[in-house]
Amino acid sequence: MDFQFSAEQQELIQLVRKIARERVAPLAHQIDEREEIPAELFNTLRDAGLFGIAVPAEYGGTDMGILGLVLAVEEVSKYCCATGLLLLLTRLPLAAILYGGTEAQKRKYATGIAAGTLRGAFCLSEPDAGSDAANIQTRALRKGDKYVMNGTKCWISGAAHADFFTVAVKTDPAAGHKGMSVIIVEKGTPGLTVGKKEKKMGVRGLSVNQVIFEDCAVPAENLIGEENQGFKLIMKNLNAVRPVVAARGIGLAEGALTYWLGYGHERKTFGKPIVEHQGLQWMAADLAVDIEAARLLTYRAAMLVDQDKAGKESAHILSMAKYKATEVAVRTANDCLQMMGATGYMEDYPLARYVRDARQLTIVEGTSQIQKGLIARALIDGDLAW
Ligand SMILES: Cc1cc2nc3c(=O)[nH]c(=O)nc-3n(C[C@H](O)[C@H](O)[C@H](O)COP(=O)(O)OP(=O)(O)OC[C@H]3O[C@@H](n4cnc5c(N)ncnc54)[C@H](O)[C@@H]3O)c2cc1C
Repeated sequence: MDFQFSAEQQELIQLVRKIARERVAPLAHQIDEREEIPAELFNTLRDAGLFGIAVPAEYGGTDMGILGLVLAVEEVSKYCCATGLLLLLTRLPLAAILYGGTEAQKRKYATGIAAGTLRGAFCLSEPDAGSDAANIQTRALRKGDKYVMNGTKCWISGAAHADFFTVAVKTDPAAGHKGMSVIIVEKGTPGLTVGKKEKKMGVRGLSVNQVIFEDCAVPAENLIGEENQGFKLIMKNLNAVRPVVAARGIGLAEGALTYWLGYGHERKTFGKPIVEHQGLQWMAADLAVDIEAARLLTYRAAMLVDQDKAGKESAHILSMAKYKATEVAVRTANDCLQMMGATGYMEDYPLARYVRDARQLTIVEGTSQIQKGLIARALIDGDLAW
């Protein structure tokens, strides 16, 4: 076992660290307040090649895999969790296409994502089906050489800017999860509407919206993989992105603890800097241990995905990484706010934003409870090979 990053990975970390410090950090407060990522930052990330990190070289990416994306997302999320999500969205709507799509689909969408000319959104959740993904009601009915889609998706990240939508549908509702498929819908298709922008607690730089399909007819060739085989594809898609959500968590946690350290050297109580109070040192030490443990788990999870083990064989490790890192993010942000006193509670300082942003992470792409259910099932079934 080798805990060293390759020269290429180290170069990537240095590149993104510099961009994160110089370009992301100064904008993070504004991104939260104005609820948008400025075009200049989008262009900086694109020009640095960061949208193509997890895209194969034949489609214009740098082919550094999920581990590469994890390293980049960790760096930017130290300052801005919404920018971490922007990078995550280079993978979430693309994974099913890369796993199950045709060559033409891969060439079009992967190339567009890597170049920054296309943006995507992943549409699974519905008002009555979040965790219970197999219960989705959006219907796609085959009519000649088209699928006609009807239904409503909700809480869709990046929908407002998306050029294409990777949509989970029912093609055979009577068959339950065996009647699910995944279809690409392009922006501008008649019958597709990006609906209401939700007012949300955190990660305000990227909105979530409803996405509505009303007799929306798309070419049958927009189907990804085989009809009624979509459930496995969606699960593999979600599994493969879990380390990237985890990376948003560890980046956020590292950023929160680092911010507290800077503050804690300056702020004095009882005649000494607060970092010298043992009560706070023990809190900080616990957080540091948790962050380091979550990082290792996340890197391992990313390596498994890059070894094409995002299926059932390693799903529990990917769930562990997502569960651990996002819970660590919530706890770290909360404890660091506490360790700053009233200053931590004020929106002029970043900790309040970190607390609001962290709360998203334990809910999206499988809640902590769903992850624990998957881990427990693997444990009971004897899948944990120790
Ligand atoms: C900011 C944000 C961005 C999002 N972006 C996207 C996106 O881009 N695309 C997309 O498709 N979705 C997106 N979502 C939706 C997200 O994936 C769902 O919120 C998530 O899957 C949980 O579903 P739910 O909210 O319906 O909760 P529910 O499924 O209703 O769960 C409610 C509660 O019950 C618990 N629970 C449910 N079932 C079980 C069980 N079997 N055992 C134990 N506990 C259980 C859950 O953990 C939760 O605490 C986003 C959500 C948010 C908040």
